[in-house]
Amino acid sequence: MPLADVRYQTNAHRQVQRALSQGRMAHAYIFHGPDGVGKEMFACALAQLLLCDEPVDMSPAESSDVDIATDVDMHAIRQGCGKCQECVSVSHSAHPDIHLIYRQLIREHPDTTLRKRKALELGVDVVRHFIVEQAAFTPLRGQVKVFIVREADRMTIAAQNALLKTLEEPPGATHIILLTTDLTRLLPTTLSRCQVLPFDPLPDAFVRRTLSETQPNLPQDQADWYARMAGGSIGTAAKACSDHQYDMNNQLIDQLVTLNAQNSSRIALAWIDEAKKLSSRFRQRDPDISESEATRRGLLLLIKLTATWYSDILHLLAEDEAGLTNKHRHNELLQICRHSQIDHTIDAIHRCNLAEFHLQRNANTQLSIETLINDLARLSEGKPAISVA
Ligand SMILES: [Zn+2]
Repeated sequence: MPLADVRYQTNAHRQVQRALSQGRMAHAYIFHGPDGVGKEMFACALAQLLLCDEPVDMSPAESSDVDIATDVDMHAIRQGCGKCQECVSVSHSAHPDIHLIYRQLIREHPDTTLRKRKALELGVDVVRHFIVEQAAFTPLRGQVKVFIVREADRMTIAAQNALLKTLEEPPGATHIILLTTDLTRLLPTTLSRCQVLPFDPLPDAFVRRTLSETQPNLPQDQADWYARMAGGSIGTAAKACSDHQYDMNNQLIDQLVTLNAQNSSRIALAWIDEAKKLSSRFRQRDPDISESEATRRGLLLLIKLTATWYSDILHLLAEDEAGLTNKHRHNELLQICRHSQIDHTIDAIHRCNLAEFHLQRNANTQLSIETLINDLARLSEGKPAISVA
């Protein structure tokens, strides 16, 4: 894919084009931003440009991205020609000088005992064998060698330490691009050796359009909902869609609108069951995560959807129709707003945040969920929550 086809990432484009025009490309970059906004596409397109025999300059005015087309600071977009042998190999994901690094590579490690390990983190053995040792060789075919590291924030401390020297003084024509969603998990020593390029969430309308293009049978109101829930990430929207989260969210809302002191225990059990179903889907996608971790992620998703529902009530109490996520449940939202109090709704969102905080710190899952649902039941009946805030 040509570089200019990565949409709505004007910041990243501007910084890279400036560095190219000044001949000051960094050897180590961190592409930081949400999942599914184009970081890996940008990294591959940049690698294509670095390997291309005859890069071309495109006028920004030719870009379909209006922010780029009207950017007065950008005079040209340099990108791979898309035609030479190098570009064609890159676009077929078959260029020997592009090394895609990910935690599951441990299963291809030459040491057979290491291959049996779970790939929960991006470990030191993967970093040493697949980056540090490979970087020492000259490029096989092109002028440069590019390492693109997925989920770099899952590098262990030992892995990051093993990479420091290569980041500091990359051998010859080596470029390393770390893709991250969480800068706080990178060591200061890693951060200081890389240039950080921020990637932004994508506009909802673009996420919706892309989802509709890839899933033409998806009803429009569902595509709208997935786009609003995805926080500007095509990746998140696509995963949510394949997990049928729209239907699950509707069931969850049915439970929330009828929630009371009598049915709260049954609803808590229903949540645990739903989280277990989600857990098996998550583990199909990522077999290395444990069942309890996958269940925890399922519960975190249910809590997020619940918080979104209460946030919708709050939006409507503030007469902000545009901010609604669950627009398709507008009538019920209106009904609930008639007997909802702002302070109780804010407390309900706070209780969701609190439960999320506890679950992320490995609190007892069943207890956390029962506490949350009891509190939400009391709040929905106009009584104060009883757990410690
Ligand atoms: Zn080319």
